[in-house]
Amino acid sequence: MDLFEYQARDLFAQYDVPVLRGAVASTPEQARAAAEEIGGQVVIKAQVKTGGRGKAGGVKLADDPADAEAKARAILGMDIKGHTVHRVLVAQASDIAEEYYFCYLLDRSNRTFLAMASVEGGVEIELVAVEKPEALARIPIDAGTGVDAAKAREIVAAARFPESVVDQVVDVAQKLWTVFTGADATLVEVNPLVQDPRGKIIALDGKVTLDGNADFRHPEHAELDDAGAIDPLERAAVAKGLNYVKLDGEVGIIGNGAGLVMSTLDVVAYAGEQYGGVKPANFLDIGGGASAQVMADGLGIILSDPAVKSVFVNVFGGITACDEVATGIVQALAMLGSGDTVGEAERRAKPLVVRLDGNNVVEGRRILDEAAHDLVEQVDTMDGAARRAAELASRA
Ligand code: GDP
Ligand code: MN
Repeated sequence: MDLFEYQARDLFAQYDVPVLRGAVASTPEQARAAAEEIGGQVVIKAQVKTGGRGKAGGVKLADDPADAEAKARAILGMDIKGHTVHRVLVAQASDIAEEYYFCYLLDRSNRTFLAMASVEGGVEIELVAVEKPEALARIPIDAGTGVDAAKAREIVAAARFPESVVDQVVDVAQKLWTVFTGADATLVEVNPLVQDPRGKIIALDGKVTLDGNADFRHPEHAELDDAGAIDPLERAAVAKGLNYVKLDGEVGIIGNGAGLVMSTLDVVAYAGEQYGGVKPANFLDIGGGASAQVMADGLGIILSDPAVKSVFVNVFGGITACDEVATGIVQALAMLGSGDTVGEAERRAKPLVVRLDGNNVVEGRRILDEAAHDLVEQVDTMDGAARRAAELASRA
């Protein structure tokens, strides 16, 4: 889970990383009140989970509370790379002498943690990384020993921080490491880490990604979850433990195994080109052991998506035998028919194309034939079924 800047700022404050005073506001009036409370010049910053806010006009200085209100009014509602601004951070403004860059991240390719630091921070760090890689120090961190004072000094020396701020940056580097490990983050990034005109080091912008695998030991992280921003279908799928991702097409997809589902998306998108460009409506992997309940949960979510016009169930029986899957489909349709998840009319409008192959396929197909459900149609090949599902979606 990625945090908003204001949440990262709060987290930094908890771990004693130097930050400036700030408050979050969702209306221009709240921004004005926050600016009054903070006093002096403030900076109004769009709270969106994407970078480059500064360049997009989402970071503005305000001289007084009235100006803060006006700047907040301009920024709230702004669209930044497809993200609507619902909140702004009103933070005490800082004069800036130098902008640096500092981050810790999980370096998956090297199976370790990595520190990256540069004295050329600010809004163009990606450019620095590409055009002047020597200006971005990269120091691997051993998970067992972490960042002690010696390691912090090594990072700071490699990035060639000016002598006058070395001790402060060494201190901040160790504190940021306690943020990284304490919150179970996979990314803690500060850009810019600034030196103000009096030589003080301050974390001015923070980006934090928390490791969802560690949620069990952080009940407090649940509050940080921006549930409103998640697609409601995805939220419903998470609640049912389903591996579901909403896409923007019309053909609902259910398959077993991530690889099969991904190739199903490709095949449907390809077939859809002949039918007015219909596309897959979602990714849904029901995994091995597709029980009737899992099938019903998956179908329930897909059928309740108003964009879905047809559904393609693509199952290759391995450990899960096709007859179990077929039984699951029949029972799922019965469960959905009797339940209140989906309306009768909605259900009728959405045909199911089923392709079964693999373990016990003959028995599986027989079960579906015998059930003779008016919504279900069987096609033997993956390509043929994809074409049929695309055709049905285009007709609806
Ligand atoms: P980003 O563009 O999304 O990374 O947003 P940042 O929070 O990093 O802000 C972008 C730039 O705005 C920074 O690199 C600074 O140059 C500038 N900035 C941000 N906060 C302040 C501030 O308090 N005072 C001044 N003078 N500039 C600021
Ligand atoms: Mn930044």
